[in-house]
Amino acid sequence: MRYISADYIFPVSSQPIKNGVITLDDFGEIIEVSLKSKVKNPKGEIEFYKGIICPGFVNAHCHLELSFLKNKLTPKTGLPKFITQVLRSRFAYSKPEILKAIETAEQEMIKNGIVAVGDISNNENTFVRKNELNLLYHTFIEVLELSPDKAEEAMINARRLKRDAKSLKLEATIVPHAPYTVSEKLLKLINEDAKKNESIITIHNQESETESELFVFGSGELFETFMAMGITREFLRVTERNSLQSTIHYLKDAAKILLVHNTYTSAKDIEYIKSMFSSRQSSIYFCTCPNANLFIENKLPDYNLFIEQGLSVTIGTDSLASNMSLSILDEMKTISKHYPDIPLQTLLTWATKNGADFFNFEHLGTIVPGKTPGLNLLKYVDGMKITKDTQVERLL
Ligand SMILES: [Zn+2]
Repeated sequence: MRYISADYIFPVSSQPIKNGVITLDDFGEIIEVSLKSKVKNPKGEIEFYKGIICPGFVNAHCHLELSFLKNKLTPKTGLPKFITQVLRSRFAYSKPEILKAIETAEQEMIKNGIVAVGDISNNENTFVRKNELNLLYHTFIEVLELSPDKAEEAMINARRLKRDAKSLKLEATIVPHAPYTVSEKLLKLINEDAKKNESIITIHNQESETESELFVFGSGELFETFMAMGITREFLRVTERNSLQSTIHYLKDAAKILLVHNTYTSAKDIEYIKSMFSSRQSSIYFCTCPNANLFIENKLPDYNLFIEQGLSVTIGTDSLASNMSLSILDEMKTISKHYPDIPLQTLLTWATKNGADFFNFEHLGTIVPGKTPGLNLLKYVDGMKITKDTQVERLL
C-alpha cells in the first residue's frame, strides 16, 4: 500500500480535494481517493507533496517521426511555408539521426508526465520504439494523395504500414492528413475502411485561413504553393464551402473523429458538425495544439467558443518540427497565459480525461478506484492555478 497526498488532488472526474489522499496498492492501482481525515489506520506513512496531483497526461496529437526537425525550421511563416520547409528537410537526415531523435523525444514526454500518445505515422520509423511500451500509443497511419487515380494505391500502402504496426501489437488506424491533401475518392475509401474496422480517426482541421481560401475561391497562398509544386489544378477540391464543410461528412462512418487544431473553426462550423452528427455528437473531439499554432501561424483558437459550445477538447503537442518541447503542461501554460479565466479543472479535463476517453484508454485519465492513470505532481503552483513557473514531476 502507498498513500500519496498533496495540497490539492485533482481526480478530474470530480471536483478537486484539498489535502486529499490517494491510496494505491502495490501494483499502482488506485484503491481510494479521500479526505485525509477519512484515512483510518494507514498501513504506512502518508507521503505529502506541496502542489497539485493530477492524472498522467494524454498527448492527443504528435508526430514522433518528425522529432529530428527540432530547432530546424523557421517559425511564424504560416502553414504553406511550414509544409514546404518540412518537405524540403525530410530527406536531409540519416536514419540513425532520425531514430535517435525519436528516442530522445519519447524520453522527454515520459519526463513531462505524459502516459499516452495519439501519434501520426507516415512510415515505420517509430514502430520499434513504440513496441518497447514505454508509453501507450495509438498510431494514426496517415494518408495523403491528391490524385484520385492513385487513391487505391495510397490505401494499399497504408494498409501495409498498418499491418506492420499490428504485427508489433500496436493499435493503428488509417486516417486522412488534411482536407486539402486528399481526394474525394480517397476520403470515401478511408471512410469505408473506418466503417469496416470501427476505427477512431483524426484529421488536421482549419489550421490556417488559406485552407478555406483554397476550397471556397480556388486561390490563396496554399493554392499557389500547390501550383508551384506542379499539382494539377483539377486535383484541388474547389467546392465553394470551407475545408471542414467540404470534408467532414465523408468521414461520417468512423467510430470517433478527432479534429486537430481548429484554429479558424467558427460557431457556424460547429453548428455544421453538430447537424452532420446530430445523433452522435459525443463522437467528435477537438484537439488543440497551442504552441504549434503560435509557432506556425502565430494565432490561437477561440477557446471561449469551445467552452460555450460544450466541445470535448483534448490537448496535443504536435511535433518538434513546430514546438520547442513535448510537454502538455507547456501547452496548458500557453492556454492559461492567453485565457487566464479558464479554470485548471477544465484544462486538466482536456489534458487527461478527454484524451483517454477518445482513445478508449479506460484505465487512464482520471484518479478513481480501479484505474492506473499515472500520477503527476504540479509544483510551484498558485493555489489551484498553474503559473509560468509551474513544473511537472512524475510520481507514478
Ligand atoms: Zn499535426
